[in-house]
Amino acid sequence: MGLPDPKQLADRPWLDPHAQPQVVIEGVSKTFPGVTAVDEVSLRIFKGEMFALVGASGCGKTTLLRMLAGFAQPSAGQISIDGALMNDVPPHQRPVNMMFQSYALFPHMTVESNVGYGLRRLPLEPEVRKQRIQAALDMVQLGTLAKRRPHQLSGGQRQRVALARALIRRPKVLLLDEPLSALDKKLREQTQFELMNIQYQVGTTFIFVTHDQDEAMALATRIAVMDRGKVIQVGTPAEIYEFPKTRFIADFIGTTNFFEGTVTEVAAGQVRVQSAEAGGELLVDELGKDKVTAGQRVWVALRPEKIRISKEPPVGERLNRVKGVVAELGYLGNRSTYHIRTPSGKVLTVLGKNEQRTAEWSIDWSDEVYVSWNANAAIVLQS
Ligand code: ADP
Ligand code: MG
Repeated sequence: MGLPDPKQLADRPWLDPHAQPQVVIEGVSKTFPGVTAVDEVSLRIFKGEMFALVGASGCGKTTLLRMLAGFAQPSAGQISIDGALMNDVPPHQRPVNMMFQSYALFPHMTVESNVGYGLRRLPLEPEVRKQRIQAALDMVQLGTLAKRRPHQLSGGQRQRVALARALIRRPKVLLLDEPLSALDKKLREQTQFELMNIQYQVGTTFIFVTHDQDEAMALATRIAVMDRGKVIQVGTPAEIYEFPKTRFIADFIGTTNFFEGTVTEVAAGQVRVQSAEAGGELLVDELGKDKVTAGQRVWVALRPEKIRISKEPPVGERLNRVKGVVAELGYLGNRSTYHIRTPSGKVLTVLGKNEQRTAEWSIDWSDEVYVSWNANAAIVLQS
């Protein structure tokens, strides 16, 4: 792997051993009677990051965000921002603001009053206050709707009012709890790009919570995956997707096929796994991170888009191949999803790009096919 390219360090400060994180969460826990909502979480988040906390409902995301905002006190551990310990600092004195899942707009106030509400505690000249409100509205492109009330806005516009109100005090860190969850799918995708643009313009660190893995993948500089109060992996979207540490993560982020098996040999940078589910031995390139040894029980994880499907027997070196029958086929226009039943009874999900008009169409229900993938397409997981 080698040392990171210095040109990249500006964009990827977490790779720079000398970079100072802006937010440091150190061994933070939060217990409620009968439940540990957040369990010894440690994270280092850098200025300008769009950092995602993802995980199933109830895994502790909101509780962690509330502790950063100061609405909840850690039962253990420390939170610092720009080197200052936050544990005993009340919410309004932290360089942090939070945008709530519900937006919590005031229905009786106009858009501009809602946005200006963020400045209410600040001793500003009326003219300056007006300018700040105008600038915030312009930033989210709501300048022309300043006099409307929330019920006269679309869902996307309400979201932008909430964002402008949260940013108007120029917090160093903005916390967003499920910022797009109130929007429908199409609007959510469009709003993702807006949110990224605004974040890029203002340069504020965003820490956002989502249970939607696609949203995290699309937006985040880095993702922390949480499970039952713990952070179980932190990485860039590509790292999490390509190198998930566990089956849980591989399954939570995207779709993955797993073959359970036993390591038979580790040699020359390759792992051989005997798998009854695959009907034989699988060859996987060794990643070098977490070493496996012969005799160990493992799971070979393989993403649907890394599998090729063909009627003819595939040829090639270091190729894994399994025979099967097309059990289900979903034509999605730009791609097709195949469910291939293999002789062991294992059903594989395969994603085919519809690059050629005829070739893909020639594979149909009940056809006998081969699925194949290279040794470097799969990874070996130990848990
Ligand atoms: P998420 O945002 O990931 O869905 P939460 O942080 O809201 O999860 O909740 C994590 C766990 O802590 C859940 O089991 C939840 O029921 C519990 N919890 C959260 N807030 C409280 C509270 N104020 N009192 C008691 N239990 C709570
Ligand atoms: Mg929540």
